[in-house]
Amino acid sequence: MVGFLVFIRPSDLPKVAPVSPFRHLDERKAAIYENLRDLQFEYRLDKLSDDDYAATKVELQKELARVRAEEDRLKVELGQITGKTPPPPRAPEVVVAPKQNVCPGCGARFEKALKFCGECGKPMSADPEKKHDAEIKQ
Ligand SMILES: [Zn+2]
Repeated sequence: MVGFLVFIRPSDLPKVAPVSPFRHLDERKAAIYENLRDLQFEYRLDKLSDDDYAATKVELQKELARVRAEEDRLKVELGQITGKTPPPPRAPEVVVAPKQNVCPGCGARFEKALKFCGECGKPMSADPEKKHDAEIKQ
C-alpha cells in the first residue's frame, strides 16, 4: 500500500560521481523531501494510519540524516584533497601598542594612553606636530 515509497540505499548510487560529488547527495535529498511531501499528503487523505505515517517519517528522517552526514564527510574529504582546509594555525599576532602609547622621547610602551611618559616624563602624544616638537627639543 505504501507504493509511493522509493527507498534509496547508498549502494544504489555511486559513491563519488565524477562531475559533482554532491550531486547524487542532492538528488537523494530531493527524493527524500519528495517522499516526505507525499507522505504528508497521503496522511492528510487518511490513506495512512498514524503508525505507518510515524514509522515512515522516522525512516525518511533517518535517511535524510545519513545523507547529510555523508555530505559533511565528503566536504571534509574534498577539503583535504584540494587543500582547502583551513591553513595551519599561525603564530599569535603580535599586538602592537598604538602610537600614542609609545613615548616619543624614550620609546617606553604603556598599556594605557598617557599624557606624559611614566619613564621620562615627556609629553605622550600621537599628534605628529607635537611629536616633532618633542624630537626637536632633544
Ligand atoms: Zn619617555
